Amino acid sequence: MEYISTRGQIKAVGFIDAVLMGLADDGGLLVPKQIPSVSAQTLKQWEQLTYSELALEIFSLYIDGEIPRDDLKQLVDDSYATFRDPEVTPVRRVHDQMHVLELFHGPTFAFKDIALQFLGNLYSYISRKNKSIIHILGATSGDTGASAIEGVRGKEGIRICILHPHQKVSKVQELQMTTVDDANVLNLSVHGTFDDCQRIIKELFADVDFKHRYHLRAINSINIARILAQTVYYFYAYFKLVRSGEQRQINFSVPTGNFGDIFAGYLGKKMGLPINRLILATNENNILERFVNEGIYEPGQFRGTYSPSMDIQVASNFERYLYYLYGEDASAISTLMNQFKTTGKIIIPSDKQRMVQGDFSAYGVKNQQSLDTISDYYARTNYLLDPHTACGVAAADQLAQEDEVTVTLATAHPAKFDEAIQLCNIKQTFPAPIEALFNKKQIQTIIGGTNEEITEQLVKFY
Ligand SMILES: *Cc1c(COP(=O)(O)O)cnc(C)c1O
Repeated sequence: MEYISTRGQIKAVGFIDAVLMGLADDGGLLVPKQIPSVSAQTLKQWEQLTYSELALEIFSLYIDGEIPRDDLKQLVDDSYATFRDPEVTPVRRVHDQMHVLELFHGPTFAFKDIALQFLGNLYSYISRKNKSIIHILGATSGDTGASAIEGVRGKEGIRICILHPHQKVSKVQELQMTTVDDANVLNLSVHGTFDDCQRIIKELFADVDFKHRYHLRAINSINIARILAQTVYYFYAYFKLVRSGEQRQINFSVPTGNFGDIFAGYLGKKMGLPINRLILATNENNILERFVNEGIYEPGQFRGTYSPSMDIQVASNFERYLYYLYGEDASAISTLMNQFKTTGKIIIPSDKQRMVQGDFSAYGVKNQQSLDTISDYYARTNYLLDPHTACGVAAADQLAQEDEVTVTLATAHPAKFDEAIQLCNIKQTFPAPIEALFNKKQIQTIIGGTNEEITEQLVKFY
């Protein structure tokens, strides 16, 4: 399988090079040259597979022999052996029309583990095979950093440096990152905001000389390997419902920030999985809701919410969807993205808007509504939603039809966001691995937010 850029200005590359490239060198995003299609007969055969078996089949379609099947199987098995649930991503029935797909049984209790456990092992594999040095550099608002560190801690040939905004991540998130004592991990706690961290990283990656000299690699959600890993659980959950005798049309509702997770669902649908409705749930940072409902993509005022991992104004994976919306026309995407850069918005014509509304239904959940949903579901069903998942559930309650059933992606365990749960006057007991974090020693370097300070740390570390 070859990968090309949404902006059409790079030579096609193989899977491993696509993973190493991260962002395409022309500023676009990498997409498969051709999305593999899965026949009804194959879907039927896949229905009985375990999570890891299914992951192996789906990855094989996209990796196409570039990694020998036995090696790939080992990578997949190792990646999902770290999950606390034997099903990896179990589906729980909450009420007749609502199931929750629990994606938080990995090491850091958030869905990002599903892709980053795999990506960590994949980087390690590539490093061994190609004898290449892998230095991961990333910024996080909380979940990605913890997950990426867990994915590569202690692995030979890899070093990882994560920037997070000093005292602006949740306590559990901070502890998950900074209590790791492996020598290949560096946590920089930066005086500033997440946007400052993100800007520094972008500038360092843009310095191609620096990037190559220090072998910098990315782990953010534009990496195509992350998207592929996330398509697996759409198939898995769908099959689980079908096996249980479900006859109704099946929707998925997805708490959305950078558009990575919901794009994975869109990709699954394009491969042939008969998903009925893809519900795009946002919080008050609702650029994507406005895009679907009004046809205008324009960042608004940033708002801090109870679902901080969705507090995003510009969705980094959105360009991938635009590419398909515009019939895989890379030059049209270049033009649109240039327009976005100069005018700060993208406006699509009404025929395209109708297509968007065929692909997604969208709803933006207000802050209070997310808390009300947590309280309401807890009272009615005894199921405790985290504030991100609550956005997905609330959106589905608004948009799903009576005769449909919805699977909402549960993107985090509620213990990670106890600040919001407490506001609902609910007392939860923390899972033991989270409880244990509070007694561990923290290791981090607290520094100012200039590029010089960061560079100095990196040069010492790498
Ligand atoms: C990252 C994250 C999201 C958003 O996922 P995207 O792929 O960025 O849309 C939602 N919920 C949680 C808990 C997250 O960590």
